[in-house]
Amino acid sequence: MSGKEFFQVLGDLSVEEADAVLSCQADERAGAGEPRSGGRFDLLEEVGIHQSRGVTDEHFMEEALRQARKAGAKGEVPVGAVLVVEGRIITKTHNQVEELKDATAHAEMLAVTAAAGELEDWRLTEATVYVTKEPCPMCAGAMVLSRVKRVVYGAADPRGGAAGGALNLLQFDGLNHKCEVRGGVKSEECRELLREFFQAKRAEGEKSGN
Ligand SMILES: [Zn+2]
Repeated sequence: MSGKEFFQVLGDLSVEEADAVLSCQADERAGAGEPRSGGRFDLLEEVGIHQSRGVTDEHFMEEALRQARKAGAKGEVPVGAVLVVEGRIITKTHNQVEELKDATAHAEMLAVTAAAGELEDWRLTEATVYVTKEPCPMCAGAMVLSRVKRVVYGAADPRGGAAGGALNLLQFDGLNHKCEVRGGVKSEECRELLREFFQAKRAEGEKSGN
């Protein structure tokens, strides 16, 4: 099977979380050897088609978690996403707000825009987006506009989540598309990743006297 280009880009975080991310040294472990220059669409990676018909939401969330860990290893808020159509992963992305210096470079945002390019269609009517943290209003809006069929998330975000946590943009009556939603898939692992990340950030800040 011939390889397909996937976008190794972005992630997702609330404004508060973004503020909490210090411009600290990233752990280069996981990112070594990856292209660093250029915009988000230069960050492509050949990973091949992932044939996964009939597999579970948990399986794809595990893929999203792998992406989240990648983000965390680079000093980004650890959120990852994968976009799946008919059991195939089309794009895998992670939060890259710091790396791209782009506040919109959330995991789901990148997954959606990259998939539209990959599929050459902005209508993602057969797509399921798996994301490790409940989408923010920006990402939820993008997924509604893209006609994403289904959104599956891990950790809930009661303060800023737009998939039913703080508000429900994914199923908002005034908009002309509603996404199916499932939350809480592998939520413990997704939440733990975020918790550890911010705990480490706080410890770093205290150590340096900030
Ligand atoms: Zn977002």
